[in-house]
Amino acid sequence: MKRLVIKVGTAVLTQDGELAYERMQNLVKLIATLKNEKNIDVILVSSGAVGAGYTSLKLDKSVLANKQTLAAIGQPKLMKTYQEMFEEFGITVAQMLFIADDFDSRKRSKNAKNVMEILLKNKVLPIINENDVISTEELIGDNDQLAAYVTHYFKADMLSILTDIDGYYNKNPREFNDAKILKVVNEISEEELNKKPTANSKFATGGIVTKLKAADFLMQKNIPMYLTSGFDLKNAYEFLVDNIHISGTIFK
Ligand code: ADP
Repeated sequence: MKRLVIKVGTAVLTQDGELAYERMQNLVKLIATLKNEKNIDVILVSSGAVGAGYTSLKLDKSVLANKQTLAAIGQPKLMKTYQEMFEEFGITVAQMLFIADDFDSRKRSKNAKNVMEILLKNKVLPIINENDVISTEELIGDNDQLAAYVTHYFKADMLSILTDIDGYYNKNPREFNDAKILKVVNEISEEELNKKPTANSKFATGGIVTKLKAADFLMQKNIPMYLTSGFDLKNAYEFLVDNIHISGTIFK
């Protein structure tokens, strides 16, 4: 594997309205291992701006404009935290903000492609987030699908989504005790793709459905997606660093 996109969600990055520093630190260590030891070009798609903004200003997040305002405040805080953490590993970071529409416009995505190639050639870590301020209601917060577009357009070999659960289950494991994890998924039904999103935390927006949509988009393009926990990175190390698939779900 040469090029890998890692997407990490709000559930992993924030805790009780604060940035979850220890989990961020662990994620940074994983990415440093992939870059510095495995020579993999990593692109990070990171949520967490709204949560980070909320630590500075308590606005009602149920109002869209407030949420976008919090993202504007939180984005530099998030980047500052990443920048300091990656500096310890000698890694320079860069910020790229997109909305899904950007990938429909050849001209815009071509410019972004040129920048991406220069960044990766120079071992810089691009950190991507949705440009929340100009995003619309339907899409705001949905970094899962944005990450899928990023993976396709920047020609990565795989997308790995790190969330608050260790994989995709045959039914919601928070509702059903007998839910079983699916190790490999080759097909996602229309019914599953059209379910109403059920995100776990109040900061999260996507739930499992946006992850399935991301997987479906990539499967049609023959690009695999790996879903596992961003809380305990054991599975991620085994699969992404050591190439052994013990747990977590591969969509291919
Ligand atoms: P993130 O902030 O990382 O995007 P979300 O909270 O939006 O995370 O989505 C993950 C949540 O989706 C899980 O914690 C779980 O509660 C929920 N979920 C619903 N159905 C399933 C399923 N079949 N398998 C796994 N998780 C599911």
